[in-house]
Amino acid sequence: MIATEELVMPQEQLEFCTGSPFTAQYDFTQINTHFETRSLDDLLEWALATFGQKVSQVTSFGPTGMVILDRLAKIAPGMRIITLDTHFLFEETYALMEQVQQRYPIELDIRRSHLTPEAQAAAYGPALWQSTPDHCCHLRKVVPLGEAMSELDAWITGLRRDQSPTRTHMPLITWDNKYDLVKLNPLAGWTRGQVWSYILEHNVPYNPLHDQGFASIGCTHCTHPTTNAADERSGRWQGRTKTECGIHLA
Ligand code: SF4
Repeated sequence: MIATEELVMPQEQLEFCTGSPFTAQYDFTQINTHFETRSLDDLLEWALATFGQKVSQVTSFGPTGMVILDRLAKIAPGMRIITLDTHFLFEETYALMEQVQQRYPIELDIRRSHLTPEAQAAAYGPALWQSTPDHCCHLRKVVPLGEAMSELDAWITGLRRDQSPTRTHMPLITWDNKYDLVKLNPLAGWTRGQVWSYILEHNVPYNPLHDQGFASIGCTHCTHPTTNAADERSGRWQGRTKTECGIHLA
């Protein structure tokens, strides 16, 4: 077992960080136990020291992602933040994307499908999100994210345990078998209330659709307002058994 302290590198060595010390076989139990009682900044600083330029946040600018982005911009100005533009996002989401770039000293890396919406319609029909949403998510989210992941040793998500019954037991740090790298969920243990307290206290920008009943915001075709406080993601893919876009499935 590698002690977490041993994995922390001095700031000046970050640029020479050349490889993740972790593999799919690594037992993250001890590190998870360590960080369960540490602050968000402690975990983010450890991730930056351990993975250097090979760690990036991936966010769709949801509330939890905005809290992490706010901290990362302060801890590591200039850091690359990755987002997926499916071409089907809300106007409010594109506006927030602009606002984030103006306010924060980050490098926003926007990834898109190589297939334009027009090409997708020509190949698979005019509404793939209705006929085969898993395929639509695969083309517009899973594949472009996979391209970004191939450049990383670790990624930072905005997932929380209280967002959905499917996320109840999510660890802070784990191995991501889908993309073959370390997955960090630094706010896994935060509640929705804690996230919004941080946003309001620190005047963090957020998607105004949250004030209109949208708890979790994705593409226009697949996102609806919800009153189900116990499952924030119940407004996504309503009327279907689909609950995840595929990027968080192993
Ligand atoms: S959320 Fe809907 S529109 Fe967006 S990629 Fe998935 S199926 Fe397509």
